[in-house]
Amino acid sequence: MSIQTINPATNKVVQTFEEMTASAVDKAITVAVATYTAWRKTSYEQRAALLHKVASLMRGQRDRLARLITLEMGKLIAQAYGEIDLSADIIDYYATNGEQFLTDKPLQPEYGKAFIRYSPIGVLLGVEPWNFPFYQVARFAAPNIMAGNVVLVKHASIVPQCAIAIEDLFREANAPAGVYTNLLISGKRASALVADNRIKGVSLTGSEEAGASIAMEAGKYLKKSVLELGGNDAFIVLEDADIDKAVEWAMVGRLNNNGECCVASKRIIVVEPVADEFLRKFKEKFTQVKVGDPMDPATELGPLSSEAAAVQLADQVARSVAQGATVLVGGKRCDREGAFMQPTILTDLRPGIAAYHEELFGPVASFYRVKDEAAAIALANDSDFGLGGSVFTQDIERGKRVADQIDTGMVFINHPTWTQADLPFGGTKRSGYGRELSELGIEEFVNKKLIRIS
Ligand code: NAP
Repeated sequence: MSIQTINPATNKVVQTFEEMTASAVDKAITVAVATYTAWRKTSYEQRAALLHKVASLMRGQRDRLARLITLEMGKLIAQAYGEIDLSADIIDYYATNGEQFLTDKPLQPEYGKAFIRYSPIGVLLGVEPWNFPFYQVARFAAPNIMAGNVVLVKHASIVPQCAIAIEDLFREANAPAGVYTNLLISGKRASALVADNRIKGVSLTGSEEAGASIAMEAGKYLKKSVLELGGNDAFIVLEDADIDKAVEWAMVGRLNNNGECCVASKRIIVVEPVADEFLRKFKEKFTQVKVGDPMDPATELGPLSSEAAAVQLADQVARSVAQGATVLVGGKRCDREGAFMQPTILTDLRPGIAAYHEELFGPVASFYRVKDEAAAIALANDSDFGLGGSVFTQDIERGKRVADQIDTGMVFINHPTWTQADLPFGGTKRSGYGRELSELGIEEFVNKKLIRIS
């Protein structure tokens, strides 16, 4: 597969990149290994200084970087600015808190004295997706570099300019060569790299297929892996919810990032007493969404990230309709150039229909009407995925009880599933394993060594 920038708003090729040769990749790993032996001995202050510098450079180039994101994957420009800000915040967060997270942890054993020492494990491989080209990399690279590891990043093939820009930021910040390395290679070659004895761990954010491929290799070669995969999050609205607020958040939850969020509110589940009111208001707002050029600040929904993504989503909708789903709003590709899909609401979904089971990665909301709270929880859990989820109720204790019964890695009460530097992010079931962000994220690729004193 070629590595290209294609503007999804026009489907025009902007720039094509040469993949790195096998020997160039080999050389990059050799440099990373050599750098690791020195980097692991640096102080937390030195590592923090580098990361703060990278964050500061990122903020300084905010305009150019945000435009690159929008050009390559079609995110609305205002959201691209938000992504740059969030990414810089994550990098600063680990620079500020990393040492404290990794400080020796005293134990109270029955005999003797003991503590846990956290040490880095070596060269790591990060395989990253295009949907948040800076944020995904920040949440992998910053904690690991702070912990004393060094990273190789294989970014998605459709965001090569973002990938190169991130490596440039590290270079401009005077990072030793090999602390952060961008590998311009295809996905298949990334899986094969896991076999390399010099690579000690691998983290992938992406699809189930890519996750399974990486996990298979990691298992075969007995390496630590973290997988952040797809989701089909439920957005539950109970009868005591503030319906207007719930509708507004459902719009954000479903359409943020043009609908291409792993934690998007993909299944809107509303209990019978408020279902009509919710659906009427939700439909009204969905039909008013302004589709257009993502560089235009007035646009509310941009294109999907690629023509292939739009074709796949339209096919999922068509198959679902053939299987008995009803299109309440939209349902088709937009009649314009580019990878656009109409904002769409599907109803009458049940087991056996594609949209009931599959992740719809784009502006397509699946609406479900259920009898009561118990039915909402049962439906939410009737999914192979287990990433995030939301419950809307004005009774917070009730919200907590419902959250407790939802089988996912994250549940938000009165908010779509979201992310910030100091909250752990990750899933269960087929959404993967391990966590990124917060204190949990920095603990994934460190040796938690027991030291016992007699
Ligand atoms: P994808 O095709 O799996 O791509 C993700 C990354 O994996 C890319 O760098 C890709 O490289 C690489 N890749 C593809 N096939 C591979 C293989 N066989 N072995 C190793 N690497 C491989 O995913 P996507 O469709 O771009 O991204 C959307 C998916 O990511 C959705 O399912 C979404 O829910 C999920 N996601 C999850 C999270 C989370 O935190 N849980 C966050 C964001 C997205 P190429 O580009 O070269 O193919």
